Amino acid sequence: MSIEDVSKEGTWFIEYNTPFSYHVRGIKRVLYSGVTKYQRIAVVEFEDIGRALILDGKTQSTLYDEFIYHESLVHPAMITHPNPRKVLILGGGEGATAREVLRHKTVSEVTMVDIDDEVIKVSKEYLPEMSQGAFDDPRLKLVIGDGRKFIEESRDKYDVIILDLTDPLEGGPSYLLYTVEFYTAIKNRLNDDGIIVTQATSTFYALRTFATIHRTIAAVFPIARAYHVYVPSFDSTWGFVIGSLTHDPITLTPEEVDSRIRSRINGELRFYEGAMHRVIFTLPRHIRAVLEDKTIKPATDNNPTFLPA
Ligand code: SAM
Repeated sequence: MSIEDVSKEGTWFIEYNTPFSYHVRGIKRVLYSGVTKYQRIAVVEFEDIGRALILDGKTQSTLYDEFIYHESLVHPAMITHPNPRKVLILGGGEGATAREVLRHKTVSEVTMVDIDDEVIKVSKEYLPEMSQGAFDDPRLKLVIGDGRKFIEESRDKYDVIILDLTDPLEGGPSYLLYTVEFYTAIKNRLNDDGIIVTQATSTFYALRTFATIHRTIAAVFPIARAYHVYVPSFDSTWGFVIGSLTHDPITLTPEEVDSRIRSRINGELRFYEGAMHRVIFTLPRHIRAVLEDKTIKPATDNNPTFLPA
């Protein structure tokens, strides 16, 4: 690397992790940029890690490492359930969450509800590698609407519900989908042995938000399990929380996870496997200490959690 390379001029994307901590990436080109009814949206090609979807200034996913995020979001919950047939996804506009769900041979019906059809249109056009045809799968039903409204009005029941929503930003479209009232409505839409999973923000930059989401799910579900993975393009370990009525993900052995993957998932995974299942549910002591902190209260509609906390 020459001195010209390290001090390159150009266009830079600056993303805040907290009001006092930013990360910066060089942009090769901007493929799309616009404002929808709900959020700012951009698809850019970064110099080093390729194309990415950015909403309200936050990186949602990049072609470089989206498999780490999407496999970690979808498969632990799906594999923990003994026979997931009917699945609901709230959010997930890129279509990569639906892609991973549809790889499960047990799945007969997937409903995906995203508030913003622009995200889906733009992702299909500029990031087709994310959905890989998932939107054309006859098992997928796409609904454009608010996930919370859908849940409150729906009479259907599901085996697994996956929440792939934007972070709870003040003034954003998703912060009311991280509250006790919302998770209670979700629980009522699950079959008796149902499972939910949500992305739960950064376990480094927003540890208390992550812990609040865990505490909120634990207030509603008999089993609440938090886990995290390192996502390079987020420059952070990323948290997820499972809420379950019957089945507990941490009781699965690596051998059982591998055997379920072999018999139930089409194609090869790139990140998730039995050994990794154990790794991701093993949180370090300092994070466990915050998860156990009694001063952290569940988020409610009147007192929601926002990023960063
Ligand atoms: N990987 C992501 C992250 O790190 O935040 C989440 C990805 S996905 C693109 C987030 C999706 O949530 C977007 O497509 C957005 O339109 C959708 N969304 C936000 N609020 C929503 C709501 N209230 N109901 C349904 N979808 C919502």
